[in-house]
Amino acid sequence: MDRQEIIELLNLRGIQPSAQRVAIAQLVLGTDEHPTAEQVWQKASESLPVVSRATVYNTLNLLTENGLLRRHALKGVSSVFDGNPEAHHHFVDEETGELRDIPWDALEVSGLETLPDSEITGYMVVVRGRRRNPTTDKIAQRSRKEGAT
Ligand SMILES: [Zn+2]
Repeated sequence: MDRQEIIELLNLRGIQPSAQRVAIAQLVLGTDEHPTAEQVWQKASESLPVVSRATVYNTLNLLTENGLLRRHALKGVSSVFDGNPEAHHHFVDEETGELRDIPWDALEVSGLETLPDSEITGYMVVVRGRRRNPTTDKIAQRSRKEGAT
């Protein structure tokens, strides 16, 4: 998203588009990265040398409260901010802790209507695992086979 789009978006939500807020929003909105607040602060510090942690944290909270960002608090991963407004699922890489998007249509969830006493307002599937590495996987397979014979 470019600066002008961010300014319009903030104005639409009644958020005063200060230079710092716009710069911070530009780092997180419309990207498929899932940075922690600390990562956003580090990135913001490169372009805004005087930006404080508090400003970054407050801005992220403000964007979240206004529905522009979503915060995911998942076990084993520090709380991350998601600037992808479309419904989607997530893959957690257990080796790196990285969160990646899975397109909504890639998974099918059934049985939601059978949950007792619950009115479902939304859901998201979190898949855990690690990235397949064809080279090391083959070596691991081969050494397992050799070990067995
Ligand atoms: Zn996401």
